[in-house]
Amino acid sequence: MTNSPSKRRSNHVILTSHLNGIGTTQTIPIRWGAATPSDRGPVISSVRSTIHRNVIGTHGGSYSVYRALAVANGTLDPDHRADLTNTAPAVPLGPYPSWSDPQKIVSLDPWGSVAGQVFGDFPKDYDILPSIAITKAHINIPELQQEVASGRLKVDGKILKEDGNLVVTKAAIDPVWYLPGVAARLKVAEWELRRILFQQTGGMFPELVTRPDLHVFLPPIGGTTVYIIGDVDTVADPSKPLAVRVHDECNGSDVFGSDICTCRPYLVHGIEDCIQTAQIGGAGVIAYCRKEGRALGEVTKFLVYNARKRQEGGDRADAYFARTECVAGVQDMRFQELMPDVLHWLGITKIDRLVSMSNMKYDAITNSGIEVVKRIPIPPELIPADAQVEIEAKKASGYYAEDEILTTDGLAQVKGREL
Ligand SMILES: [Zn+2]
Repeated sequence: MTNSPSKRRSNHVILTSHLNGIGTTQTIPIRWGAATPSDRGPVISSVRSTIHRNVIGTHGGSYSVYRALAVANGTLDPDHRADLTNTAPAVPLGPYPSWSDPQKIVSLDPWGSVAGQVFGDFPKDYDILPSIAITKAHINIPELQQEVASGRLKVDGKILKEDGNLVVTKAAIDPVWYLPGVAARLKVAEWELRRILFQQTGGMFPELVTRPDLHVFLPPIGGTTVYIIGDVDTVADPSKPLAVRVHDECNGSDVFGSDICTCRPYLVHGIEDCIQTAQIGGAGVIAYCRKEGRALGEVTKFLVYNARKRQEGGDRADAYFARTECVAGVQDMRFQELMPDVLHWLGITKIDRLVSMSNMKYDAITNSGIEVVKRIPIPPELIPADAQVEIEAKKASGYYAEDEILTTDGLAQVKGREL
């Protein structure tokens, strides 16, 4: 009994909001953007050892809260140390010049996938954990089988198998924010950003305002999953064709097939383009970002759906953005300024086919120094009937389109289903 986790839960509370003599000698500084991992220093976010921590927040993103529950109910030993045997990346990736450019990457740890290897000489007490994991998988998507049956997609036996399985390399990435860099991207002072992050999270992380010596923050938000189709080595090679879709999470459409938006059909079209590009000797990348409902969250999103469909005159393209703004105060909170980091982590300098119509994504990617050769809109036949409201409103607001943009009068005529 004395060995049970619940018996070993510590009641001793150590405030990390002030130095208090802690962390002054054994804390390793993080020199963001340094040329080598040893100069940069490890990100140490484990709560097991307070004296070594050199960041604000902890690892696991939003799942750190579930970890707390598991400790609270006694199922997880708070002293558990991860056994990382055989967890190294299934496919080597990087390093690329962008990994040591403090401007190119500010919202993830470029060394996060190899933390266990490049910082392997550190004593075990330092509890250095990866913030990125890279593995391989076979995925099977019903629409792709239909594409094969119709002849739009060809089975090659290596990338797309006879049984419809698609061979992918995938990476899960937790956010690691270098606050001076994030502040610069948003064009605010670092101190201003830190104060507002503290206030708007209900004071969740006092170190944001009391520990100016800590510049790295692990926010409790969702991360990004990258799916690479084709030869991983060609992704960073500008002489090889590359297709990219940066897709923001939409659970209702992506998983459950809701017809109010174009998310799943566009995602599948992106995967199709990635397969075709990989089959001609290049590669395709899907970056799937956990920014549900334009980062407003699903509750707000469903409230907006109700407001759109119940408004006078029904759900119309001319009132599409206004209804979101009424409920959320803004049209969008995705902040695409941080999004290109994942592309720079992959070493991408040129995208031959960007499968996106979003002007915000295009501007963020090209402003970050990545060349975009061609933008690929969603084919009209893939747009669900109820999603015409969304797509016409977006095109009229500046989204890339190859066909006609409707006027205000025309937008008022594009209507969706009633509740
Ligand atoms: Zn959607």
